[in-house]
Amino acid sequence: MAVDSALSSPLGPPACEKDAKALQFIEETTRNADAVQEKVLAEILTRNANTEYLKRFKLGGATDRTAFKSKLPVITYEDVQPEIQRIANGDRSAILSAHPISEFLTSSGTSAGERKLMPTIKEEQDRRQLLYSLLMPVMNLYVPGLDKGKGLYFLFVKSETRTPGGLVARPVLTSYYKSDHFKTRPFDPYNVYTSPNEAILCPDSFQSMYTQMLCGLIERNQVLRLGAVFASGLLRAIRFLQLHWSQLSHDIRTGTLNPKITDPAIREYMATVLKPDQELACFVSQECCKENWEGIITRIWPNTKYLDVIVTGAMAQYIPTLNYYGGGLPLACTMYASSECYFGLNLNPMCKPSEVSYTIMPNMAYFEFMEHGTGESPAKLLDLVDVEVGKEYELVITTYAGLYRYRVGDILRVTGFHNSAPQFHFVRRKNVLLSIDSDKTDEAELQNAVENASRLLAEFNTSVVEYTSYADTKTIPGHYVIYWELLMKDPSNPPSEEVLNRCCLEMEESLNSVYRQGRVADNSIGPLEIRVVRNGTFEELMDYAISRGASINQYKVPRCVNFTPIMELLDSRVVSAHFSPSLPRWTPERRR
Ligand code: AMP
Repeated sequence: MAVDSALSSPLGPPACEKDAKALQFIEETTRNADAVQEKVLAEILTRNANTEYLKRFKLGGATDRTAFKSKLPVITYEDVQPEIQRIANGDRSAILSAHPISEFLTSSGTSAGERKLMPTIKEEQDRRQLLYSLLMPVMNLYVPGLDKGKGLYFLFVKSETRTPGGLVARPVLTSYYKSDHFKTRPFDPYNVYTSPNEAILCPDSFQSMYTQMLCGLIERNQVLRLGAVFASGLLRAIRFLQLHWSQLSHDIRTGTLNPKITDPAIREYMATVLKPDQELACFVSQECCKENWEGIITRIWPNTKYLDVIVTGAMAQYIPTLNYYGGGLPLACTMYASSECYFGLNLNPMCKPSEVSYTIMPNMAYFEFMEHGTGESPAKLLDLVDVEVGKEYELVITTYAGLYRYRVGDILRVTGFHNSAPQFHFVRRKNVLLSIDSDKTDEAELQNAVENASRLLAEFNTSVVEYTSYADTKTIPGHYVIYWELLMKDPSNPPSEEVLNRCCLEMEESLNSVYRQGRVADNSIGPLEIRVVRNGTFEELMDYAISRGASINQYKVPRCVNFTPIMELLDSRVVSAHFSPSLPRWTPERRR
């Protein structure tokens, strides 16, 4: 039931008093977006005035936007990498931030093949927590009764390392799940998970997933929402159920835990909840042994009201599959965040995926927007409240942790305003050609991988004359498909099947560490596939493009394709298909 109308919010009637406060915070912060931004910048510049980085640009104590914009350059990761490396190597002086760098957050964006290291400070945890605390109050406006059940969320920690100077380096969500904010969160009826902390915090991804699925099955009638961070993660869980339902059902029938689950904390927890349940075991087996898995989520978890997964950006490719397994359940994209900084939330989370807009919260960092696609040089940077509806911008941030005028690489389009805070459609991340999970492969990385792999063909007098690629998400997990057209100068000595398989592996070895981690540790990416197409295929591709209006002089082979007629053309010309025969090398340690 909604609370007292005195607490009502323009967003809608809050579900409880705690929600009322959160909604009020959103209202005030977005109404005063410009003043909040000015204050945030002044705070960052004041506290960090004596850092080596800010002193270099001679701000002379100024904390206003005009001085800041005229003196500080807009930068990319590579520009600040020397400073980051010094911090990683153990230099504790105030290089970027006056507050000590507490750890590095490892981004899924890479630089020279390795995850980017984002410095963070302790208090950023509170800022992230604040954003999390706004999500359910907004959701409760649209979906009533979420306090009457639980959420089945598949959440995982990933491996962490230490930098040479001893700082921890790990993904932001791993940092969050291991923090007291998460581990010792007070009971909140709107935020109860079926997954125990013991399972979420287990570093072994099989044991973690197995336990989370088992708990989700045991409490299947309690589950009101299902989720994972990204769409690919939820589909991986469905695939896991396809592969392991028989053992899961056995555990439920006998009340005993699969001996492959060896983690003592998990075993201890499961001993308290796992009881023999014939009826449930039969139900799970009956549903899962069916050929047809359409709508499986609503069959097994009949009270689910929505799927909580990000399906904007690169994840949009999973919408049809999620609709298939989810029986058309609404897909809710609740927030927009990164390792550098958490940005904002979707104030209308039950809208269609294509209509999702994120409202950037002005208290999180100082935001600027670089005009995109205007061809003007230098590009103009606008403040948060000055962006224009319909235009595209690249996000540039200045954070409390010490990134100044840093280009995130995301392209956003303004769709409207909530009070004076703009709302953005996520258009795309720059320079990403292929992505299955959190991996992001750009054109240069793909080119390099093709070059390295094609060296294996030299002894057969064979070369790759053209190539293109495709992220195949019809398989779970998805995988990269690379189309190769070969030139064989000596048809009597063609590269063997085994050599072409090795080319697949060689390409994988050449891809960045996020890709290889997805293959090796997370099992979120399947083996890379090379499809050899017959000679002349790429010429046909060009003819097709020209028939559709491309200019002959300017035609370039697309390095990634996803347009159905082109895929059909390529696939109809395939002469052989090859898969990576084993896993590429990956360890949590960085290669450099
Ligand atoms: P990472 O630093 O690895 O956490 O990746 C952050 C990046 O993931 C962002 O800069 C975006 O490119 C992407 N991302 C995060 N949240 C969303 C979202 N809600 N929709 C689309 N892309 C997102």
